[in-house]
Amino acid sequence: MNILVVDDDRFIREIVSAVIQDADHSAVTASNDLEALEALEQGDIDLILMDVEMPGRNGFELTQAIRELYSKHWFPIIFLSAASDEQHYEKGINAGGDDYLPKPVSPIILRAKIRAMERIANMKKELDDANTRLEKLSSQDPLTKLSNRRDLEVQLLKEWKRSHRDAETLSAIMLDIDFFKPYNDNYGHQQGDECLKSVAKILKGSLSRSHDIIARYGGEEFAIILPDTSYDGAKKVAENIIKMLAENKLPHEYSNVADHVTASIGISSTYFNPITPNALLQQADQALYKAKENGRNRYEVFSP
Ligand SMILES: [Mg+2]
Repeated sequence: MNILVVDDDRFIREIVSAVIQDADHSAVTASNDLEALEALEQGDIDLILMDVEMPGRNGFELTQAIRELYSKHWFPIIFLSAASDEQHYEKGINAGGDDYLPKPVSPIILRAKIRAMERIANMKKELDDANTRLEKLSSQDPLTKLSNRRDLEVQLLKEWKRSHRDAETLSAIMLDIDFFKPYNDNYGHQQGDECLKSVAKILKGSLSRSHDIIARYGGEEFAIILPDTSYDGAKKVAENIIKMLAENKLPHEYSNVADHVTASIGISSTYFNPITPNALLQQADQALYKAKENGRNRYEVFSP
């Protein structure tokens, strides 16, 4: 662990640092509030040992400030104080501290507390990692690993607000694999799943910007959100997708438009003044319907 020792007394900083190093952790020291905040900003601090009686902001005030500044990132803070009455203890915990050690500090107790805090910090980290994984799972389509519809709606709303704030055009694409039902009926569902995975990969490959959002919207339907993109830009993306599908030649003997897997694509953008994010998708869906009517394996742009 990287342990930050905050104390205005140099002698104590040295003793505590020696205990820390002895326990195979590394120590960073700060003699006042400003140095402590600077150390926090610079490094990955896992634990703070905090003096209470200091000139400037005292340990309680500094802890409160740190908890506000780093509200998303918890690490244990242990107070070291010469005062050891109950009110003092209570004040420290209320300020955002996790434990309290009286001075002079016993090296054995200090080592044991560091070990206990390390255990808690590790559990917290595992919990955070598990939460991140869960969050990802709940926003991901398990088959294609693309965003699912729920995540698409969340991201679309975010981009919708951003495009209004920055007065930028936001475009949306809806895409449907052509003749997917006969594909599934003839090649089987397993092959159907492989086809969806392959198309997802091709779609991913067709987008070059990391902030473009691509999702599996339903069965064989995909949606793409293109921030800061005109419908002309979206047309280029659609052309590219059709070209890449043709190049990849995923065999489809039961298609009426080609001997490989193709897609119909509908495009709309905020240029056409949809009132809500959902209306933008509906416009793209209408354009998709037109692309199907006009013979599939093509794209159409929404026309009001
Ligand atoms: Mg002091």
